[in-house]
Amino acid sequence: MTTETLTQPMELGIFIDGKFENSLSGKTFKVYNPATGEVIANVQEGDREDINRAVMAARKAFGAWSEMPAAGRSILLNKLADLLEAKKEEFAALESLNTGKPMVESLFVDMGLAVDCFRFFASASRLIRGETIPVPSGHFAYTMKEPIGVVGQIIPWNFPLTMAAWKLGPALAAGCTVVLKPAEQTPITILKFAELITEAGIPQGVVNIVPGFGETAGAALVDHEDVDKIAFTGETKTGKLIMERAAKTLKKVSLELGGKAPNIIFEDADLDMAAKTSAWAVFLNQGQACVSGSRLYVQESIYPQFMEKLVDYSKKIRVGNPMEMSTQIGAVSSQEQFDKIMSYIEIGKEEGAKLLTGGNKVGGEFSKGLFIEPTIFEATQKMRINQEEVFGPVLSVVKFKDLNEAVELANDNQYGLASAVWTSNLLTANTMIKKIKAGTVWVNTYNFICHEVPFGGYKQSGIGREMGLQALDLYLETKSVIVDMGANTPNWYGL
Ligand code: ADP
Repeated sequence: MTTETLTQPMELGIFIDGKFENSLSGKTFKVYNPATGEVIANVQEGDREDINRAVMAARKAFGAWSEMPAAGRSILLNKLADLLEAKKEEFAALESLNTGKPMVESLFVDMGLAVDCFRFFASASRLIRGETIPVPSGHFAYTMKEPIGVVGQIIPWNFPLTMAAWKLGPALAAGCTVVLKPAEQTPITILKFAELITEAGIPQGVVNIVPGFGETAGAALVDHEDVDKIAFTGETKTGKLIMERAAKTLKKVSLELGGKAPNIIFEDADLDMAAKTSAWAVFLNQGQACVSGSRLYVQESIYPQFMEKLVDYSKKIRVGNPMEMSTQIGAVSSQEQFDKIMSYIEIGKEEGAKLLTGGNKVGGEFSKGLFIEPTIFEATQKMRINQEEVFGPVLSVVKFKDLNEAVELANDNQYGLASAVWTSNLLTANTMIKKIKAGTVWVNTYNFICHEVPFGGYKQSGIGREMGLQALDLYLETKSVIVDMGANTPNWYGL
């Protein structure tokens, strides 16, 4: 396996027009293993001129790609999925090495989702269609869907290859060509994946990958006059900057941003299942997920017994070496993220939140890595740890009395990406489904993601829906066609 033979850092280039190249500036940057602090790759650092070359390659490839029959694009996307599936162990190991996430998650969540995403969009590409629209007076009207053009895609570091798949799948299915900028912390798997893109037979220039930093390569992609659309996943504050910047060229923008999902436990829920799943709702991927169920609301009548189950279960979660299959929680992804999470734990303590478990860096054999204990605070609604996105293994818990209060507390937040309700009462579930302002409501489950189902945010959690057939619309323009059928019906000009 790649990682076991990794005795020295990998050397990775910029992928433009089907070839790996060096950056024009000659600059490189280092990529680390967050579990050990070791340098695992030296990567060519893309900047404005490299982005420009990548955009030119994508533009050159656009004509033929957009005109390829959907069935052809579908075959290639399925091939890509097959190639990734055949190498999923290798890619999972690289993902764990670079992000610190446990192997079990890289394999079954990250690679599982990435493969299935390409398969879903391989099928979806053949379902792109317009509609016919009845119009009066001897005319015929219909709509056509056309690919937007060259799209810039900027992705984060928490699920690197899955996020790349979520972006590439719908864009390629729609017939767009792409310049993708991975997060500077985690460019490894997507650059390795570029080899599979070539092997699958996707033509040169259709996908270009430019590793680099947000303020340089990312900003250049957003500014570029020949990029028709930007799709971004990341922090809400970065999304706002990108939207502002994209306004200069009036690019289309779709954004999948932060969250602070409320996870609500009613007294009539299956408490055992709710307690265990609520732990994973927040601790999956060390809490570094935009859908993370980081605000837990528990009905006061069951609060003591529920909290006992939750805290007991959370204490047993195995934190450890990400490369071992038995590990449940690994390292957080970067020093910057580690510092941010630890500072929120301090903020929680200063605000007077009661620490029920965790709260520390993991020491001993893991002291060189960025490991944090699963942490649970008893909090109050307005505390910063209960309002702001921590993006780490930190849960805040607040009590509520009844359904009305649960709705009020759940919606009292700037974000609206995901949410969950636990109850055995259909009426309670249905009322909550209607009243919660969020793009996803899970009922008696959490983190259940299907590529058939749209995914995206209300409020400051984003614009647009990824996944499902709706995701294609992020990459398509609608052209309306109105034809005079020659019936000589009177028109507005009296002709
Ligand atoms: P984080 O701060 O947690 O790394 P970001 O939202 O800043 O999250 O990063 C997500 C992605 O956005 C990364 O690929 C990053 O390089 C990119 N990015 C950051 N700042 C900008 C920017 N000003 N313009 C374009 N892309 C950016």
